[in-house]
Amino acid sequence: MREIIMSAMRPTGKLHLGHYLGVIQNWVKLQDKYECYFGVADWHALTTKYDNTENLRQDCREVIMDWLASGIDPDKSVLYIQSLIPEIAELNIYLGMITPESWVEKDPTLKDMVKILREKESNAQQLNYGLLGYPVLMSADIMIFNADAIPVGIDQVAHIEITRDIAKRFNNLYKTDFFKEAKPLLNNCSLICGLDGNKMGKSFNNDIKISDTEEITAKKIMTAITDRSRIKKTDLGHPDECEVAFKYWQIFGDEHDISVVRNECEQGLRGCADCKRQLGCIINEKFKSIRERRKYYEENPEIVDEIIKSGTAKARIKAQQVLSKVRDLIGMY
Ligand code: SF4
Repeated sequence: MREIIMSAMRPTGKLHLGHYLGVIQNWVKLQDKYECYFGVADWHALTTKYDNTENLRQDCREVIMDWLASGIDPDKSVLYIQSLIPEIAELNIYLGMITPESWVEKDPTLKDMVKILREKESNAQQLNYGLLGYPVLMSADIMIFNADAIPVGIDQVAHIEITRDIAKRFNNLYKTDFFKEAKPLLNNCSLICGLDGNKMGKSFNNDIKISDTEEITAKKIMTAITDRSRIKKTDLGHPDECEVAFKYWQIFGDEHDISVVRNECEQGLRGCADCKRQLGCIINEKFKSIRERRKYYEENPEIVDEIIKSGTAKARIKAQQVLSKVRDLIGMY
């Protein structure tokens, strides 16, 4: 039997290249080896955006379409929407009852989110009960499939520690070994910065979307930061100090491309504008088939509906099995 992995994303709308390189590419590989459950965490979106739900449903669909276009195969992986699995909410109640408050307070994900909200003074009053329960809900997301492993980056290992602690506590309290302690499955994906050199993010307006057109991609790439010391094309360049464009070359170019760009830049034979134009073409080529597939799903919404419906139904079967065992172990009526 294959090991189970579970992972989820918040419905942030159309995904960007950071999501593709840092998460989705890895999922595509994992689906050949594991029983995979990939969810759109729309309840988690409500922990901070409960007053801004106008686009929530469409944002969930955008995420699913980006996954499908990028190669997540609904015949290999189970794709679902979190809020369509009520079993997660019930498990969240049981786990909430056995989780000491101090564990929740020290959870790094929650600490980060509270910090961000507090920094925005106007949002200080928005720290709500649902947000404080975030670490337990995340644990319910994982434990509802009794997952063996969670794909994470090295900086996220501590974020699933609470889930392992809650699983251990459940097993101790109810004298069972039912719940597995989900282990982190480290990925070594490429990290890509935004066009301005900061973390890539929709809200920073520095991203390239998976679904951007070739024209938009070409236009955006022209804003990428280069070697700030260069003024003229003939100035000798320093690719390692080219803050964004050369980093993108190292991600998207092949060995030959990278070496040509480096040499021509260092010798003052390559202008930054031409260099970025060429880079835009390389990125567009890489995402050509993904964008064609995405267009197909955009034009065929009934296929997306069916994938969500059947994935959610499969996820619920597994969730119901786990929940039934949990109720039994606790001694619920
Ligand atoms: Fe960067 Fe290319 Fe300009 Fe060199 S020529 S600084 S690699 S954009």
